[in-house]
Amino acid sequence: MSDSPDTPTPTQTGSTASIERLHVDGLTTSVRCPRKYELAHEHDLESTSDETAAEDRVDLLGGALCAALRTGDTDPDRLLDAATTALEERWNDHDERFHSREQRRHVRRVLDATLEAYVDRIGVEHAKGIDRLTSETNGEVIGPTLPLSSRVSLPESEAGDASVTLESTVDYLTADGRSVVGVRFVPTLAPLGRLRYRPEWEGDIEAQFHDHFDPEADVFEPGFVGSLFETAAVVDGLRTRCQQLGLENRTCRYVQIPVADRSQTTVNWVQESVDASLEVHDLTDRYIDHHTYGMTHEHRNRAVDDRLAAAVARIVDRKFEPETRWESISSASCPECGYSVCCQEYLASEVRFDG
Ligand code: SF4
Repeated sequence: MSDSPDTPTPTQTGSTASIERLHVDGLTTSVRCPRKYELAHEHDLESTSDETAAEDRVDLLGGALCAALRTGDTDPDRLLDAATTALEERWNDHDERFHSREQRRHVRRVLDATLEAYVDRIGVEHAKGIDRLTSETNGEVIGPTLPLSSRVSLPESEAGDASVTLESTVDYLTADGRSVVGVRFVPTLAPLGRLRYRPEWEGDIEAQFHDHFDPEADVFEPGFVGSLFETAAVVDGLRTRCQQLGLENRTCRYVQIPVADRSQTTVNWVQESVDASLEVHDLTDRYIDHHTYGMTHEHRNRAVDDRLAAAVARIVDRKFEPETRWESISSASCPECGYSVCCQEYLASEVRFDG
């Protein structure tokens, strides 16, 4: 990938137009199943799976926390007050259907506990980093959903496009020493797989990444590979953003913060209280390989970047057949796919099964 000064606007690819811009969410979907990418992003069909509740809560919390960070306050009590006030405003307009008032109250307690955990665990540190960053640049560093973009040079593509703009988003930027850190609120860290438990690229992460693409290895880890693609897109997009902000001498890092992970909450039903904890996860060291870093002095990974470019080229060439991946996709991706009712491969496999 190479840097670009482009400022992205979200675009939806059409079914016949050439693809010039692609969001990394679409790319990670194509890793789970290329047909799913086609149905969701080429044909713009709506998924029947119910993934929206967790996403909505991430939006609620992300919006409230970004509003609090925008106050510039680094005092923990005032930061939490600002976040709670911002959440209250959003909560009043939140139209999620609950089974009962008690359930609505419980969800609100979980959200409040998550705000508290964020401020305790990382919020003050990040607020101070934002303060340092804004003293050095006039550019926007707080979202939510700050757009990033970079250029991906394609390997030989049938469509002939030499490069595609790859879009991604973070919720805010903060400073950590000489690094600019892009932070994104996510529902959970579950998609990361081994990236969650290993500290660096060399070793198990590198091995699993190569195995995923090895037809002999019988390994299919789309969440893990998609997360590495996302990290590559965000880190490259951050480099572009740093150039725009006059911060080009910084290294870039990518951090995810899960804010809708039920395993991180403890409920006391008698006292009607909720405790939450937060795991702040830096993906950068899991992504960079030290060989490429030694050559470029930038946070890059040649193997990931090359596979990412090849995956983008397949989308540009509209190669959406599961092909040799069908066995893995049918067991790992189909069971929770919201497009099965309109998917030719899935319907054909059901007919074979019934017959
Ligand atoms: S049902 Fe299976 S094959 Fe069809 S789009 Fe979904 S994941 Fe892909």
